[in-house]
Amino acid sequence: MEQALQAMADNTTNRASTIHRKNISNRQVHLQWMNQICRSKKLNYVMEGNRICSLFGIQYPIIQAGMIWCSGWELASAVSNAGGLGIIGAGSMYPDGLRENIRQCKAATSKPFGVNVPLLYPDLEQHMQIIIEEKVPVVFTSAGSPKIWTPILKENGIKVVHVVASSKLALKCQDAGVDAVVAEGFEAGGHNGREETTTLCLIPAVRNAIHIPLIAAGGISSGKAMLAVFALGAEGVQIGTRFVCTKESSAHENFKTKIVSLNEGDTLLSMKKVVPVRLIKNEFYKAIQAAEDKGADGGELVTILGRARAKKGMYEGDMEEGELEIGQASALIDTIQPAKEVVDEIWNEFVATKNKISSLSL
Ligand code: NDP
Repeated sequence: MEQALQAMADNTTNRASTIHRKNISNRQVHLQWMNQICRSKKLNYVMEGNRICSLFGIQYPIIQAGMIWCSGWELASAVSNAGGLGIIGAGSMYPDGLRENIRQCKAATSKPFGVNVPLLYPDLEQHMQIIIEEKVPVVFTSAGSPKIWTPILKENGIKVVHVVASSKLALKCQDAGVDAVVAEGFEAGGHNGREETTTLCLIPAVRNAIHIPLIAAGGISSGKAMLAVFALGAEGVQIGTRFVCTKESSAHENFKTKIVSLNEGDTLLSMKKVVPVRLIKNEFYKAIQAAEDKGADGGELVTILGRARAKKGMYEGDMEEGELEIGQASALIDTIQPAKEVVDEIWNEFVATKNKISSLSL
C-alpha cells in the first residue's frame, strides 16, 4: 500500500515537473502583463499598507470565495470590477469549461481575478496547465498539500494562496512558500475542518503562528464581521455564502431563494466519516443522518451520496435530494443583490463601524 502511494506521489511530481519545464518561459510574459495592468490602471487603494490589497492589486481586501456550481466568470468578473477579488470555482468545471470561464472573465474585466482549485480534483494537472497558459494572476488552492504546486505556480508569476482550518496547516503553507493563507472557521459552508474550530478562535491562533498575509473566512457576510476579524489579526476576508445570493452567481434560483429563508441552526456539519461538509438540512441530509445513527460506515455514506449530488442541488435546483453546501451566515442574508452592491455595502459598513467604535468614549 505504501509503495502504491509513493508511486502515485512520484507520478504526480513527474507530471508536475513536465508542466513546470514547459511553462517556465511563461513567467516573463506573465510578469510583463501584470506590470502593464499596474501601469495602465491607477490603482486606488483605500487601505494604505494593507498587504492583501497590495499583494493582489485590488481596491478592497474583500475576496469572493471560489465555490463549486456558484462562481463562474460572471460572478468573478463582477466582484473584481467592484474592487474586490473575484474567484472562479474550478472544482465543478471540466478543463474546457475552465478555459472558457477564464477567457470570458478576462474579456469582462481588466482587473485581477483568481481561480480556486481543490487539489483532489480528478484532472488537476490539466487545470493547472490551463491556468498557467491563460496567465491567471492568482490561484487559491484547497483540500490537499500546497507543497507540489506552490513553487510551480509561483515560478510562472502566479500568486498562490492556500485555504486551511488550523494554525498547524497554516505554518506548513508558509513553509511551502505560499503568498498568503485563508484561515476558514467552522461556520463556513462546503468542505470544513474536522476540528470544528470557529473563526473567532482560529484567526488569532493562525495570526500568532505565521507572519505572511492572513485572510479570514467562515461566517463573514457583513462589514461588522469584517471589522471583527480585522481586530483578531486578519488583513482581508474571503466571503462565500453572501456571494452565492447575488444576481451574477450561477447557483440555481431555488438555492438562492432557499438561502434567503434560512435561520440559525438550518445548516449543520455532515459526513464527518467521509469529508466533513456543512449542508442545509433537507431530505438528503436526513438520509445521511439516519444512516449514521444506525452506525453506517464511510463506504455506506458514499453510496447514499452517489455522484453529482452537489450539482443536483446547487445548480439544478433540487432542494430536497440535492447536496446544498452553504455557511452559517445564510441566517443573516435576506436578499439577492448585484455583487457590486454586496461589495459596496460590506465596505461602507466596515468603515462606519470602525468609526463608531473609534468614537466610543472610554
Ligand atoms: P462528484 O464526484 O459527486 O461529482 C463530480 C461532479 O463534478 C459532477 O457533477 C461533474 O459534472 C463535475 N466534474 C467537473 N469536472 C469533473 C471531472 N474532471 N471528472 C468528473 N467530474 C467532474 O463530486 P462533487 O460534486 O461532490 O465535487 C466535485 C469537486 O468539487 C471535487 O473536486 C470536490 O473536492 C470539490 N468540492 C469542493 C468543495 C469546497 O468546499 N471547496 C465542496 C465540495 C466539493 P457532470 O455531472 O456534468 O459530469
